[in-house]
Amino acid sequence: MQVSFSLYSKYNAPNIIPFKQSLLEDYKKQTPKQDPLEGDKLVISTPKEGLVKQNSFLHPNLKLKYKSNGERGVFATGEVKKGEIVCIFVGDIFTADELKKLPEDLQRKTLQLAPDIYQLASKNPNDTKAFDAAEYFNHSCEPNLFLTGNNILIAGRDIKPSEELTFDYGTSDTLGNPDIGWKCDCGATNCRGENTPDAYRGIIAKLSEKYGQERALDLVANYIKQMYLDEQ
Ligand SMILES: [Zn+2]
Repeated sequence: MQVSFSLYSKYNAPNIIPFKQSLLEDYKKQTPKQDPLEGDKLVISTPKEGLVKQNSFLHPNLKLKYKSNGERGVFATGEVKKGEIVCIFVGDIFTADELKKLPEDLQRKTLQLAPDIYQLASKNPNDTKAFDAAEYFNHSCEPNLFLTGNNILIAGRDIKPSEELTFDYGTSDTLGNPDIGWKCDCGATNCRGENTPDAYRGIIAKLSEKYGQERALDLVANYIKQMYLDEQ
């Protein structure tokens, strides 16, 4: 596979996890390895729509379920503490050109890692019924998760059982994703109304007011952090 953008460029450099990194080892021990269809509480199978496979690392207190609008989302089954690692996305890498050849459903499930690099956790991109559960984190303009590094979701505050876990897609996607440019109806009181490729500038400004710019830049994808710094 041809990757036109170097995976080792400054836009995709390793990042420091600003919260409780040591918890990762605990989660690895806790996370069941069995097939999610065999009673694993991480994932509820949805026979109507096919199997949901689990490739990415997920916090143990999560489950996938249907919302009242018929869409699926990731919900807490127990407490998730501020700073805990909620998800580490894994998957196959696609360039922007390769991404455009995938079915739109799958394009929507990718995580952007660099200006033209995307990651898709579903192991079989031809099987639209076999998404990775981690791909069901929905967008919110007022999320309870942050994206940090290239592919790690952390809890931005304490999350109670039954709450849906969301992150701001504007902190990971800038180009190519069909979800960019959509009209947002996330329901947050401060909803931006639309998610645009340059949404990250406003997001970083807002996060900087709350956390200071240095910290704020660790709460967006690493490549966005670098782009933002280059623009200054
Ligand atoms: Zn919104």
